[in-house]
Amino acid sequence: MSNDAYSEGDLRKTGMALKHDREWDYELDRIVDAIEERDATTVGLQFPEGLKRRAPAVADDLRALTEDVTFMISGQPCYGACDLDTFLMRRSDVFVHFGHSPMKESEKIIYVPLFSNVDPFPILEDAVDELQEGEVGLVTTAQHMNRFGEMVDWLEERGYEVQTRRGDERLTHEGQVLGCNYASADLPADQVLYVGGGKFHPLGLAMEHPEKTVVIADPVNNVVTIADTEKFMKQRFGAVHRAMDARTWGVIFCTKIGQGRWEQAEKILSENDDAYLVTMDEVTPDRLRNFDFDAFVNTGCPRITTDDGPRFHKPMLTPGEYEIAVGNKPLEELSFDTFHGTW
Ligand code: SF4
Repeated sequence: MSNDAYSEGDLRKTGMALKHDREWDYELDRIVDAIEERDATTVGLQFPEGLKRRAPAVADDLRALTEDVTFMISGQPCYGACDLDTFLMRRSDVFVHFGHSPMKESEKIIYVPLFSNVDPFPILEDAVDELQEGEVGLVTTAQHMNRFGEMVDWLEERGYEVQTRRGDERLTHEGQVLGCNYASADLPADQVLYVGGGKFHPLGLAMEHPEKTVVIADPVNNVVTIADTEKFMKQRFGAVHRAMDARTWGVIFCTKIGQGRWEQAEKILSENDDAYLVTMDEVTPDRLRNFDFDAFVNTGCPRITTDDGPRFHKPMLTPGEYEIAVGNKPLEELSFDTFHGTW
């Protein structure tokens, strides 16, 4: 999954222990100010998966600071700012989304980004051993964005010519990447330093920019690695091959606010009479199991397709991979599925 606060430091299957415990700043004062300013009586709280267990304590703290306010915690899965609980939002005077930076601002929503308090500089010391002198592109996830300027200075002090940019409107900050968008790494430098956790984010980045060396500095788990896309590419080629004989296709249109790509879904339907549109919010293997399509193509979150792909009972492809499987494009055009724009 793509969510940064979830994948970063999610070590359940690795046998490793977290090197750093993290405390988050929930910005309660900012939330209370908004509640008072708007005379809010209903407040929706949405946490990413990795922080849901903290929700009752945050609600308790907010209750202690306010009067006559009902706090409602979203029980919907949440993996990104693309994934706002719109049902709860409509029923709240103030809606607080924790753990991600804004994909699109709205008067009603307060985004509390929850920056990591992990010091990134010890791991940067190790990462520079892997970097060539000269130009380097720098990117990071929302969690480490609060130290981005300092990281740029730190590298410049060591003689690097640091290149940064804000990718596109799906991204809030200069230098920020998402699991579905690496436009901030569209830089001339031949090497990119990615600061952040989660092994899937940097793989997407490396696939998007195969001509660059991607050095991964993970300050949470204290490791430096060079992105290697080979295994990942094999998995994707395997899925495409298995889907080449498919006759019937389930084309998934995701109803989450920031994950809909209607034009892509429609294009496939208009060109293939054996394709059927399936609408859903959360795309999981269980929910698709009762469909008897030969293969699926997912126009929603690309990370569901790539990170969870092997768990589906039938091949699950990205829209680009679908084009290859049905013979519209050659295999060499297999690339990472990226997502641009908001809603
Ligand atoms: S669509 Fe993008 S931002 Fe949303 S969960 Fe997937 S990777 Fe993350």
